[in-house]
Amino acid sequence: MAIAAPSSAPLVDGLGRRISYLRISVTDRCDLRCRYCMAERMQFLPKDQVLTLEEIALLADLFIARGIRRIRLTGGEPLVRRDIGDLVHRIGRHLGGGLDELTLTTNATRLDSHAERLFDAGVRRINVSLDSRDPDRFAHVTRGGRLDQVMAGLDAARAAGLAVKINMVALKGVNDDEILPMLRWCDTQGFDLSLIETMPLGDTGEDRTDHYLPLTQVVDTLGAHHALTPIAHRTGGPSRYHAVEGMRVRLGLITPLTNNFCADCNRIRMTCEGKIFMCLGHEDHVDFKAALREGGIDAVQPLIDRALRLKPAAHDFRIGAGARAATARHMSVTGG
Ligand code: SAM
Ligand code: SF4
Repeated sequence: MAIAAPSSAPLVDGLGRRISYLRISVTDRCDLRCRYCMAERMQFLPKDQVLTLEEIALLADLFIARGIRRIRLTGGEPLVRRDIGDLVHRIGRHLGGGLDELTLTTNATRLDSHAERLFDAGVRRINVSLDSRDPDRFAHVTRGGRLDQVMAGLDAARAAGLAVKINMVALKGVNDDEILPMLRWCDTQGFDLSLIETMPLGDTGEDRTDHYLPLTQVVDTLGAHHALTPIAHRTGGPSRYHAVEGMRVRLGLITPLTNNFCADCNRIRMTCEGKIFMCLGHEDHVDFKAALREGGIDAVQPLIDRALRLKPAAHDFRIGAGARAATARHMSVTGG
């Protein structure tokens, strides 16, 4: 299916923000059940509701033609999707020809068998989620995950030449005592580290309030050990980076609760069902799948402009007594 001559209008939302970054959730499924992300018993989408590889690739083509420069594949767990290697290869063909970067966020349980192929397809950098380096604690947070698989995945990533950033959700009373050791370990491994505040997305069957840890507190604690200096380094996402005195690791902070960066948000998200969400924290979306299946790619073109008009000024995340999840959608549906 060929793409009709795309509109040349750049992707600019109603508030003048230039949209250049697309996150694609390629599946809502996952082999783990992280307590802050999913419920223990999740209902996943039937296969026929999920976009095929060809449909995702066509939509990616269209977005790149409209000015998307970076794509991150995520989920759910992207590496549980059977055709993920082919998809990465297919989208990777745009690198250097419209697309500046193709990246992936993964829990790394299956990374050992994918790392080389990702590199061959043009991926140079990945985010790996790791909330604890203690095997029992890791199994607790993920409801059954095996740390040794993640470590094997990280070794494979390094061997393949992929740069790694570790994503760690800061959880009070769960892993707060591991944040400083994680920073030091990342430094020895040549990884960067981003800390994330828990976001109120979807019902997980657990109260997030108990474990919410504002990163303002974490910065104070870390700062007592190593001076932290804000730096201009950016990777296109929401992390704001600090240099750490005496170390080469860069410390990223993702602070949707204590300091949101919505004013210069450049991102939109596509779910594995082909719904375009303009904000992680809002329900407004445009459904591309129905248009694509009924009218082909030409029917999708005008929907991009409709989606742009939906981008809100900011999310409205709140955690605390009486606060409910900002959306019924889990992070694994919209794509983190
Ligand atoms: N399965 C992959 C992984 O875990 O890296 C990719 C998808 S996961 C939804 C993407 C990121 O979202 C992970 O770093 C995860 O820790 C984070 N995440 C999930 N739910 C979250 C929540 N409620 N608040 C903050 N971060 C969350
Ligand atoms: Fe799966 Fe990632 Fe959610 Fe954990 S954070 S349950 S690995 S999608």
